[in-house]
Amino acid sequence: MKAQNKKVIILIGPPGSGKGTQGELLSEKLNLYYFEAAKVGEEKINKAKKGEYVIADGKKYYFEKEKKLWQTGKLWSPPFITALVKKKIEELAEAGNSIILSGSPRTLYEGERIAPLLIKLYGKENINIILIEQSAEASIFRNAHRKICELMRHPMLWTKETSKLKNCPLDGSKLLKRKGLDDPETIKIRLKEYKERTYPLIGLFRKQGLKIKKINGEQLVVDVFKDILRVFKF
Ligand SMILES: [Zn+2]
Repeated sequence: MKAQNKKVIILIGPPGSGKGTQGELLSEKLNLYYFEAAKVGEEKINKAKKGEYVIADGKKYYFEKEKKLWQTGKLWSPPFITALVKKKIEELAEAGNSIILSGSPRTLYEGERIAPLLIKLYGKENINIILIEQSAEASIFRNAHRKICELMRHPMLWTKETSKLKNCPLDGSKLLKRKGLDDPETIKIRLKEYKERTYPLIGLFRKQGLKIKKINGEQLVVDVFKDILRVFKF
């Protein structure tokens, strides 16, 4: 059974292209459930009982082991996160939600398993892929200048509008630089991961006949948002 007249949006783009920001804006404007795979994974891992596991591709994946991977900064096992994401998508479709996915699928492995499920539940014609394009230079610059607030860890992407802000516009706490993830060397690794592991998803989506539109990510947040609404006629 299909979730009737509901839509799915998948945001793909390099680190620092503003996927998270656009995802939140779209979710609010179009009343979509904002689906962050990382949050689903974290929640399940934190709630898991000792010895609990999920079965994916006939293998057991223990929550405790995945938790260790996550705590050391590594990616979760693709079958593990795919199983969790699939289950969550089924629940959301069952409840009749339109959804927006940011940060998932992240690998071909995930895409090959998640795209057919979305097509089955929502129908090909209701799936929209947004490819936010941004040069490597812009990604490095924006990530290197990204800040997050001291109190709530609100992320603040570098843009012309936010470049002079010293305090969080939501809670007034100081804006700080993030250590580790936003260091230039780490960003280069994340960009490489994106190019080699995430970007090939576009070819997969194309083969499946899904609607893909490119959006120029090197504009003001508001203009990227307007472009998305215009191009997709949302
Ligand atoms: Zn804040």
